[in-house]
Amino acid sequence: MTFTDDKNLAEKLDSEDALKDHRSRFFIPKNKNGNDVIYLCGNSLGLQPKSVRNFVEQELKDWEMLGVEGHFYAKNPWMPYHELLTEQTARLVGAKPIEVVVMNTLTVNLHLMLVSFYRPTTLRHKIVIEAHAFPSDRYAVESQIRFHGFDPKLSLIELQPRAGETILRTEDIEDVLDADGDEIAVVLIGGVNYYTGQVFDMERITTAGQAQGCVVGFDLAHAAGNIPLKLHEWNVDFAVWCSYKYLNAGPGNIAGCFVHERHATNQAIPRFTGWWGQNKNIRFNMGPTFDPIPGAEGWQLSNPPILPLAALRASLEIFDEVGMETLREKSVRLTSYLEYLLNNHPSKMFSIITPADSAQRGCQLSIRTKEGGKKIFDHLMANGVVCDWREPDVIRVAPVPLYNSFTDVFRFVEILASGTEAGG
Ligand SMILES: *Cc1c(COP(=O)(O)O)cnc(C)c1O
Repeated sequence: MTFTDDKNLAEKLDSEDALKDHRSRFFIPKNKNGNDVIYLCGNSLGLQPKSVRNFVEQELKDWEMLGVEGHFYAKNPWMPYHELLTEQTARLVGAKPIEVVVMNTLTVNLHLMLVSFYRPTTLRHKIVIEAHAFPSDRYAVESQIRFHGFDPKLSLIELQPRAGETILRTEDIEDVLDADGDEIAVVLIGGVNYYTGQVFDMERITTAGQAQGCVVGFDLAHAAGNIPLKLHEWNVDFAVWCSYKYLNAGPGNIAGCFVHERHATNQAIPRFTGWWGQNKNIRFNMGPTFDPIPGAEGWQLSNPPILPLAALRASLEIFDEVGMETLREKSVRLTSYLEYLLNNHPSKMFSIITPADSAQRGCQLSIRTKEGGKKIFDHLMANGVVCDWREPDVIRVAPVPLYNSFTDVFRFVEILASGTEAGG
């Protein structure tokens, strides 16, 4: 696609945008003058779908009217409520329904998966993560290593980019797996790195890891709702993600978990258990014997929070209606437009560390500032742009296809440019 830096182009692209009407389904925060902010932070906290209120109010009403009876007689009975999300979640991540469940929060699910799939032995005790993994993942992995009596200094491998490069090459990851594979228990990569925005080749990494006998899992916090996924087909062992970033389900909302079908009935896999993972036919016998539900649902611990699930349903309904392929098409165009405007800007105050190849990135571009970077960021925030700053010098911006426009992108670059002059 060829772009120009003419403002009319932004308006033209917006008028031709098949998804343009979806913006009005979201609340766009306002700046102090009462105008819509330029919200480029959907990678951190997605905006509120206007439909959330009705979904949540339905449950408040049923609770008000029915009390405990709502478990069976609510419009959408609470007992099986989480099942209302199964099909949509499966479509979102390219899974079979038996492979997914919504439960807990992301880091909790990561621990539950590591309890089941990280079973270190003296010969095979290492976990591979990417350098600059999200801190929570790193803490979780290190604590699991220590929990099993191993030492992160010896058992944690961090994949580093080549000298002078910021993104990892798939062939380098494969080389590490080929060389050290027999000592590696688990490979855990962020499907989309939160800092650089790099999309990893999950299929190749899975194949390479499993060829060496490793379990391969992904943290999809920045991938779910951002890029199309095919977890079942790629043969991924497990995955976890949150719902409050690209999935717009609200701050701290309930997370997702994927366990491949081939583990669905494997009773040899140890796990931490709770009553909600129990065979539904006998759960309320309250007996002593645990018989897990086959598939991801068998990893549930508690009866789930209905109000957060209701908000997530509102959001997933929109994703299901639009479809990830359609979203992705606009996303590639929108982010390519942003890239074009940044690269064509006469000031050479910044560079983009996110891969230039659309296939290796999602919505987000991470902009490395050269000098006065923090001042440029402050200028953006003061002028109605919401994006984020990551030490030491990176501004992350994520135009999301559901509610961002080409005009948002154009205005962002205009304000960034005036900031680089101000930042000098
Ligand atoms: C956002 C994010 C988290 C946050 O974890 P929570 O348990 O939801 O607080 C963890 N890991 C990654 C990769 C993230 O992007």
